[in-house]
Amino acid sequence: MDRILRVDMTDRTAALEPLPKRYKQRAGRWLTSSIVHDEVPATCHPLGPNNKIVFSPGIVTGTSSPTSSRISVGGKSPLTGTIKEANAGTGWGRRLARLGIRALVVEGQPKEDDFWLVKVAADGATFEPAGEWTGKKLSEVYPEVFSKHGGEKAIDVCSIGVAGERRMAASGVCFNDQEGRPSRYAGRGGLGAVLGSKGLKFLVVDDTGASDVPIADPERFDEGRRKMAAALNEHAITKPKGALNSYGTAVLVNIINEAGALPTHNFRLGRFEGAAKIAGEAIFQGNKERTGSELYNHACSPGCIIRCSNTWHRADGSEHTSCLEYESAWALGANCGIDDLDQVAELNQLCNEYGLDTIEVGGTLAVAMEGGVARFGDGRRAIELVHEIGRATPLGRILGSGALVTGKAFGVERVPHVKGQNMPAYEPRAIKGIGMTYAVSTMGADHTSGYTIAPEILGVSGKLDPLNPDKAELTRNFQYATAFIDTTGHCLFIAFAILDIAAGFEGMINECNGVLGTEWIDDDVTRIGKEILDLEREFNRRAGFTKLDDRLPEFMTRETLPPHDAVWDVPDRVIDSVFGR
Ligand code: SF4
Repeated sequence: MDRILRVDMTDRTAALEPLPKRYKQRAGRWLTSSIVHDEVPATCHPLGPNNKIVFSPGIVTGTSSPTSSRISVGGKSPLTGTIKEANAGTGWGRRLARLGIRALVVEGQPKEDDFWLVKVAADGATFEPAGEWTGKKLSEVYPEVFSKHGGEKAIDVCSIGVAGERRMAASGVCFNDQEGRPSRYAGRGGLGAVLGSKGLKFLVVDDTGASDVPIADPERFDEGRRKMAAALNEHAITKPKGALNSYGTAVLVNIINEAGALPTHNFRLGRFEGAAKIAGEAIFQGNKERTGSELYNHACSPGCIIRCSNTWHRADGSEHTSCLEYESAWALGANCGIDDLDQVAELNQLCNEYGLDTIEVGGTLAVAMEGGVARFGDGRRAIELVHEIGRATPLGRILGSGALVTGKAFGVERVPHVKGQNMPAYEPRAIKGIGMTYAVSTMGADHTSGYTIAPEILGVSGKLDPLNPDKAELTRNFQYATAFIDTTGHCLFIAFAILDIAAGFEGMINECNGVLGTEWIDDDVTRIGKEILDLEREFNRRAGFTKLDDRLPEFMTRETLPPHDAVWDVPDRVIDSVFGR
């Protein structure tokens, strides 16, 4: 039976309740955004007792569907003040789905400043003090938590790091990967700080005794699953030994640099001289030289057949960090002018250790460099600055609050953000569609809310001129489709295959129909995507956001970006036409 597990941190109680009928078909982002919309007062303080944090596995999470072990995490963001959904690939969500828990809602706030571990199992949840594990690096404490609670076969772990404990807005929510590393993040929006504000250090899920996820129409599900797997195995980007499997997401560094859209030196330039040194190909080659192996990519979560996650190794062949994603290599590398992979890897690992969002931290370091705190390219100083965040020094607290606060503290105008969230790794002046996505996303500057890079740069689903500003329909359609994918529990990287291969798209819908017993068709993807966006936009409206918040920073309309020498020139009326207001 589908249930909601409510964990109230005020008096440390937990209760299972049946999933309300109106949520019957909802899961993943659709359900987290529904619950946040319905239960969280939009004007509440994100770190106060009235905010809630909601976890929900996707519709097909926990089944044999490929690449579908995502867990959505939702709440009101302390970074942006908007609604937020971030998701991660991990076995944690699969276990929750197998327990029949469609949503786990954490609410309330303890009176004392203690931290707790909540263990979720078939009969509900139990609480135990977690103070002994606070103030430490996550790689030190995860093995102890695994060992105390049955090991990696029995449990998966969700947690915050010291940044979340200190309620910093750049903190993320961390999950373990398949090897037990604390490395998979629902990173953006500062949701780690919300967990910290509730005194919740660990959420452990033990699915011992759970049954398989029920499937209403096994034949239909199986047909959908097979079509999805076939599409993923066929497409050049997602297939075995394809782009993602061979070089990880960092394969994009050279591609986006070549397109003149790799933000460099805090969004001053569109190309980075050292791009090739931090690209996926360099990670592949460096690992090969240091380990003698070409097979370093792995699946971050059970059942992924794309297997894009990498591991970077030190000169002595020992493991340094996992995963070094495109966004992280860019944020901590090109955007800060750092081209030394070992330094970039150390910055990445420190973010993993302290529980930080690599994109926000990279953006913040670049703004701090702009403000004279360090020189661009000074990797050693950048590492010291991330340690300042980990120690929560006064400077570290400013940096841990994100790029916008850091810009204010150091008198910097060039803060490339929307609604307080630093932009990710695609220059909007050089790729207009993604800029429009940043502008109108319900969550601040966020590439994953509508990845128009697919047609604008990669030639997936057609090929569009990235400099053409006429992209209102494109960004709207991508945001609707993405909201649906975030609801299914699939990793967003399936999008490359299902956008180009019609049978894959059909497969995704039929997997959902098979699990839920629904009769959804193509149009329902748009219908449901729109419904999700409408809920999120309504929450933001109630929180006080208007169309005037859907704007890119003024400096981008004024400063030209080399090599295209382009400015941000999409008229406000075109931006406002995306969602028709
Ligand atoms: S494609 Fe990559 S990020 Fe997505 S689930 Fe697979 S390994 Fe994880």
